[in-house]
Amino acid sequence: MLKKSSIVALALLCLVRTAHAEWLERVEDGIMGTRIVVELWSDDRGKGNETIEAVLAEMRRVDQDMSTYKPTSEVSKVNAEAAKGPIQISEELFDLLTQALEYSRLTEGAFDITYASVGYLYDFRKHVKPDEASIAKALPGIDYHHVILNAKARTVKFTQTGVRIDLGGIGKGHAVDRGIAILQQRGISHGLVTAGGDSRIIGDRFGKPWVIGIRHPDHKDEVIARIPLEDAAISTSGDYERYFDENGVRYHHIIDPHTGQSARKVRSATIIGPTATRTDGLSKTAFVLGAEKAIEIYNRLDGIDAIVVKPDGEVLYTKGLEAPQQ
Ligand code: ADP
Ligand code: MG
Repeated sequence: MLKKSSIVALALLCLVRTAHAEWLERVEDGIMGTRIVVELWSDDRGKGNETIEAVLAEMRRVDQDMSTYKPTSEVSKVNAEAAKGPIQISEELFDLLTQALEYSRLTEGAFDITYASVGYLYDFRKHVKPDEASIAKALPGIDYHHVILNAKARTVKFTQTGVRIDLGGIGKGHAVDRGIAILQQRGISHGLVTAGGDSRIIGDRFGKPWVIGIRHPDHKDEVIARIPLEDAAISTSGDYERYFDENGVRYHHIIDPHTGQSARKVRSATIIGPTATRTDGLSKTAFVLGAEKAIEIYNRLDGIDAIVVKPDGEVLYTKGLEAPQQ
């Protein structure tokens, strides 16, 4: 609870800073199939709103180029042609694929963009899942070693047919980082960009850290931990985001690359780190490897912290996190 005196102080601070400066906030649904939030402190409302528009335009562009739902996207082109031979791709996609393969290596294959070789057979909105035989047939397509990058020629190829990639597990983080770069280029020093479960923050909020709540996996309005953050990225993956339940089993959008089935070893995983691409790329890991093994990996990585909720409700933290305020 803010005391009355601090509310007055806050109001005065806002007045003193400049008469026109203000906090701007925009919420937009639909880009990349999710909710985008942009917030920033701007000295000039017009320029601030232009900056927000530029961030949203960049998000739409990333969506156009990287969505597998769009047959004309660069990634769809890769899926259609890369098994026939190397194809040249944009620098942006090449860099992102390079990072994706790095996260595969860091997570012992738990993060794997070729999950889509089976993943495309699911439609969680329509409650569609593949049968065992279809999974078995498509499963050999999953293995990040099937994706061959050539930095000199800036090409990608797949080693065999039946391989598909999908950047759903890293693309929102990437889009958030692109949005933050726009804020920085335009001199914004206090702001936030969110795409679904991926956020990045620059600066503080009215002199205090931002406080990001981590929700309870079963109760949307219940917060299990509050994390104070400044100049950081945070990504949460949960089995409650895109799913359907059938005969007491939850089918959800994070796929275990070894089985082609939904990965059920944890309920949610939140990663804090320097960039949203990185935190997004690491938040799927715990679902596949289990909480303890994932925490071990996160503890080894520089600048990474994590909060993992196990199926029995137990919450595990990396060693860099002090017990957060409840
Ligand atoms: P959001 O899409 O809200 O950012 P996540 O960050 O949890 O949610 O990412 C989930 C998405 O990651 C899935 O919808 C799918 O596109 C992709 N994905 C699923 N399993 C894997 C995996 N094992 N490795 C990499 N990406 C995955
Ligand atoms: Mg994400």
